[in-house]
Amino acid sequence: AGPPVTTQAEKGLKEQANVSKAAERMSLSGGQSHDMLPPFTAAWQYTDAQPLIITKSEGIYVYDREGNKYLDALAGLWCTALGGNEPRLVEAAMKQLQTLPYYQSFWNRTTEPALELSSQLINMFTASPMAKVFFTNSGSECNDTQVKLVWYYNNAMGRPNKKKFIARKKAYHGSTLISASLTGLTPLHGSFDLPVQWVLHTDTPHYWRNANPGESEEDFSTRLAESLEKLILQEGPDTIAAFIGEPVMGAGGVIPPPKGYWPKVQEVLKKYDILLIADEVVTAFGRLGTMFGSDLYEIKPDLVSLAKALSSAYMPIGAILMSQHLFDEIAAHSNKLGGFSHGFTYSGHPVACAVASECLKIYQERNIPQHVSQVAPAFQEGMREFYKYPFIGEIRGLGLIMAVEFVADRDTKAAFPTDWGVGTYFGSRTMAHGMLVRVSGDIIMMSPHLIITEGEVKELVSKFGAALEDLAAYIE
Ligand code: PLP
Repeated sequence: AGPPVTTQAEKGLKEQANVSKAAERMSLSGGQSHDMLPPFTAAWQYTDAQPLIITKSEGIYVYDREGNKYLDALAGLWCTALGGNEPRLVEAAMKQLQTLPYYQSFWNRTTEPALELSSQLINMFTASPMAKVFFTNSGSECNDTQVKLVWYYNNAMGRPNKKKFIARKKAYHGSTLISASLTGLTPLHGSFDLPVQWVLHTDTPHYWRNANPGESEEDFSTRLAESLEKLILQEGPDTIAAFIGEPVMGAGGVIPPPKGYWPKVQEVLKKYDILLIADEVVTAFGRLGTMFGSDLYEIKPDLVSLAKALSSAYMPIGAILMSQHLFDEIAAHSNKLGGFSHGFTYSGHPVACAVASECLKIYQERNIPQHVSQVAPAFQEGMREFYKYPFIGEIRGLGLIMAVEFVADRDTKAAFPTDWGVGTYFGSRTMAHGMLVRVSGDIIMMSPHLIITEGEVKELVSKFGAALEDLAAYIE
């Protein structure tokens, strides 16, 4: 299926030539690349092209320096849940900045916002009882800290060999040394000498892509749980400390778990005394229509990682929730050692905590999970209309998270030749129609602001549709 490659290659070359011409114009006018090394960006992107410079945000929209308005369908990086100009968050930050812009939280000195936020989080997370909160500045720091907590715990328990971690292929857990190891995406590994040896990656729970012909979702989940058990037995259960997973996989392509997946996985983990860490950095605070992803899938984690929507991204902050049995061991061990020697200058930063605290109040007052459940059908069902395009392989997601995967052939699920740049082309068309999405190869991902209205969802779907029309013309 699909047009001859030569036609597409020609088109691709033409696109590239246009980009090069733009680059030439820039360098002729002395417009060289900027001074920043941007994260997750290839050099050709910042030497050949102008960055998109965003200068203002309003609700679900952002504006660039030229005044162009975009519907930000990824909510920053899956994070600005309450939109771009929530006055209560600004006020909370200002108030805190004016009274106590900073104090630290080492050695049992701390601040009121850090204490208040801790109790709010402990009360809000009910999927399994949590005892303590540890603050970080990001999701990556949370997951690096998770490893240290688990190691410290197993050392305290006299199990020095129980140290390996199991994550999943296509997981995203961050980009620091250890969190990048937990991440199961090859671009974060190859050139960085990662993952570290003691991180193992088990199967991606992607039914559409990985199920055997005729296999039911339940059977697929059983097979994955058996494969996990096999891995544990191969390595030796006494060497495996913890399993980390996102309730719904995010950056790896928005992959909701198949039916029965979480109960079956948890059964295996329990059998071998392996801790479960729920990485709720994307799924917490309503994105799936429940306050936490763990609520929806009945995940009972020992540890939880939170960031992003925790402060609606108005301030950098991450938090770990820790269950009682872990805390008890950690507390007893730290008494022997004379301290729990881990933390950051900005752990429990009062301004970040004040903003996050206000944010949580808003989620509860406005019942954001319920709002998400109300607008989700317009999003999920609206987007599924696009199955009429044969080049769409799968439209997947729930609540306010979604991925659309383009394929050259729906039956074989074969990808388009990479030199067609199908995903990139689509991304440029959504921009032309005034919308920003995430492009990862030929997968398009969206996680709109949790405050999006039904009308705005319709606008999003319509812009997506306009870009699909352009793509249809491009690949014909
Ligand atoms: N965990 C998950 C599930 C994420 O999606 C992300 C970021 O996208 C992280 C961890 C890392 O968070 P950060 O970028 O704040 O370090």
